[in-house]
Amino acid sequence: MGGRLECPCGRAFERGEDYEVSREGGEYLIECGNPECPLRVLGELDAGSVERGSADASRVFKRAFVTWNSARLGLEKTLEILSEHLSEILSSLRSGRQ
Ligand SMILES: [Zn+2]
Repeated sequence: MGGRLECPCGRAFERGEDYEVSREGGEYLIECGNPECPLRVLGELDAGSVERGSADASRVFKRAFVTWNSARLGLEKTLEILSEHLSEILSSLRSGRQ
């Protein structure tokens, strides 16, 4: 259980709360949070996914972020960790923390 992902800027993500999530219209942006980051936005979630409480990690997260991690961990492991982080992000959004 658990796993560590990295952004190309060097920032590490060990759980859903390590990402910064901001709302932009009907979408939620999952961001790195490092102001120097070349990617900044790591994924996008639509409001419907938040309402349902589920989303497909391979569609939510940007290809550049997935590829960066799968080069190190393999795609299967990367998607497994992304799915865990995504469900943590979704549950915190649904509990109204954001
Ligand atoms: Zn970054």
